Amino acid sequence: MSSAGGSMVADGLFDLDEGAPRLIGTRCTSCGTLYFPQAPSCRNPQCREKAIERAILPTHGALLSYTVQRYRPPPLFRIDDWQPYAIGLVGLGDEVEVMGMLSGFALDAIAIGTRVRLVAQPLYRDAERGPVLTYAFAPEAAA
Ligand SMILES: [Zn+2]
Repeated sequence: MSSAGGSMVADGLFDLDEGAPRLIGTRCTSCGTLYFPQAPSCRNPQCREKAIERAILPTHGALLSYTVQRYRPPPLFRIDDWQPYAIGLVGLGDEVEVMGMLSGFALDAIAIGTRVRLVAQPLYRDAERGPVLTYAFAPEAAA
């Protein structure tokens, strides 16, 4: 684990490879189905072996759907400097669909089909752990 400026909001969702975030999922070695977040077993009813292994997800994809959160969430969901934000459903590598916050979008100009890439961004600052990071999706063109 690198110390590229923060800890993760939750264990097992993603890690940082020299500062670049990577989502961690599960792939069934029998039928090839990819799951995120990590699944304890393959959920494909046609699959016989259900043999799963840890898998790194693709980092680029396309925005499939989104919603804008305009109300402050309950305190359990902690975020500093709260302002309305968008949550998107992203198809990564045509294999798996992942929900995540959108970063770097104008909330009134989000377009389905936009190519996005995975980024890590600070969610809040913890007194003991320092910046706590989450993953998000940013427009690919803004790289
Ligand atoms: Zn399977």
